Amino acid sequence: MSICVTHAIPYPAMQTSLARSNPPTPLLMIPGPVEISPTVLAATSVPPPGHTAARLIEAFGNSLERMRQVWQADAASQPFLLAGSGTLAMEVAAANLVEPGDRVLVINTGFFSERMAEILRRAGAKVTELAPPLGEAPGTDEVRETLRGGGPFKALFATHVDTSTGVRVDPEPLCRLARDAGALAVFDGVCATAGERFEMAAWGADLYFTGSQKALGLPPGLALMVAGERALAARASRRAAPPPLYLDWHSWLPVHRAYEERKPSYFATPATTLVMGLEAGLGEILEEGIAARIAAHARAAKALNAAWRVLGLRTVPKSAAVTANTLSVLLFPEGIDASLLPKIAARGVTVAGGLHPAVKATSFRVGHMGYSVTRPDYLRRAVEAVAGALQDAGAAVDAAAAVGALEAGLGS
Ligand code: PMP
Repeated sequence: MSICVTHAIPYPAMQTSLARSNPPTPLLMIPGPVEISPTVLAATSVPPPGHTAARLIEAFGNSLERMRQVWQADAASQPFLLAGSGTLAMEVAAANLVEPGDRVLVINTGFFSERMAEILRRAGAKVTELAPPLGEAPGTDEVRETLRGGGPFKALFATHVDTSTGVRVDPEPLCRLARDAGALAVFDGVCATAGERFEMAAWGADLYFTGSQKALGLPPGLALMVAGERALAARASRRAAPPPLYLDWHSWLPVHRAYEERKPSYFATPATTLVMGLEAGLGEILEEGIAARIAAHARAAKALNAAWRVLGLRTVPKSAAVTANTLSVLLFPEGIDASLLPKIAARGVTVAGGLHPAVKATSFRVGHMGYSVTRPDYLRRAVEAVAGALQDAGAAVDAAAAVGALEAGLGS
């Protein structure tokens, strides 16, 4: 048996590896987890603080206040941050807002809308799904008719950006339609929050949730949501048995209120290291301004889409209006298949395979959210890798023209 001797990493070398090469290799351009900023990396590269440490309490309180700003929510709304992934936030939404027998409408624009519908069914809801053709979002008339026809509905659920199709819905009219129908408006922002326009208070959305590893530009591990007054009231007036303890907003309300008052509290151990990162990440976004950060996502998406067009790549979303800022879901050109992905990886960039069953074998996905959209060099690397891999696969594409289209779009 051989004995493996490990040596402590000398401190300067460790620092270099923490700072990462610039841009890093491989460059992570999947739709989450994403590359994180040096500021967030530094904030999370600390010994885990205790949940009652003064610095943690400050970071938790700051994060809650900053979430309201990033969500553009009002003072009466309640942010929650829980250890867990985006799916936990979906479970929390269903568990607090839906009672067995409630009717709910799910706008189905892909894989994650289907997951939401399944979670709601397991919570005992009667689910109506409105599923437009692949690559499209439903029209407002269709949504209005469905809300009128099959109700009364307790809530409308929509996926702001479905990561399997790259389709974006417009939450603003959906909020209005839901309110007119007396239903709550709930949005899965896992692939959207801080990358797509969302004005929680102005639009009257009731719940908007996300995971940390996407457009917020943080490591995975936090389920983040802001509940409006109507959503909180729906939980408060629940007649059915309370939700499972960890999922129940009422377990967390005293803790979150205490942290916002900068007081120690405990219900279940928070992901303290990630909270340090959250405070820093939200701080960075707000320093830039939420509108500017969303505009950076829109600019990156537009520029990348121009590059994809030069490369002859078609997108799954059928129109620019429903094409997400945060990722590209691209169809392989004629004669090319998923063997393109290792060719892209060989060029130092990681992208993701297809996810939606209808395009699983025929599409691939490039994430462009969070810190990456502030880095033209990352976006260029992604375009160069895709273009080079297409050439390796035998396609006659003009890589320089694609990079030119990207740079023109970015104004660089
Ligand atoms: N909703 C959407 C739109 C997502 O993109 C994802 C993750 N890709 C989820 C929900 C589930 O999040 P998680 O993987 O963090 O549980």
